[in-house]
Amino acid sequence: VVHNVVRRLKPIADQKSIRIEVHERDKIQFYLDQGKIQQCLINLVSNAIKYTPEHGEVVISIYRELGDACVAIMDTGIGIPEKDLTQIFDRFYRVDRARARATGGSGLGLSIARQIVTLHGGDIQVSSTLNKGSTFIVRLPIRQQGVGG
Ligand code: ATP
Ligand code: MG
Repeated sequence: VVHNVVRRLKPIADQKSIRIEVHERDKIQFYLDQGKIQQCLINLVSNAIKYTPEHGEVVISIYRELGDACVAIMDTGIGIPEKDLTQIFDRFYRVDRARARATGGSGLGLSIARQIVTLHGGDIQVSSTLNKGSTFIVRLPIRQQGVGG
């Protein structure tokens, strides 16, 4: 799913000369709603591209931690002020009007991403440094076939 998303978004990154790297540290296979998780990752990776200036970098890591499959999306972008970090997952929330005008968007991407992950029993964590970059980590519990729905 991650590789599909990167393939889809690479042309947009190329336009800004942003390099996208994928590090698949663990090969993880499990049951999930592929379309929904793809939508979630599209929202996160397209944010990483959108909020990173030209010639920046987006690094995506896939790894297993305890019983979870993790996807970390790191960018070298504009970052998010600490005071906004708790609100960016709210519907229609965008960090400031000036940057919102410059980039366009509705402020729904992250709230949709978090809802999808929550429905899968996982969560999304964020850490960020202003003018340095942000990292979003999606954590999904690995479910075996036959366990639950
Ligand atoms: P859209 O609905 O098109 O996704 P959006 O990108 O503004 O619009 P969200 O994806 O929900 O909305 O993101 C909310 C806000 O969080 C953004 O407006 C932006 O200010 C901030 N943000 C999200 N991801 C990043 C990132 N990787 N780097 C810096 N700021 C970010
Ligand atoms: Mg967005």
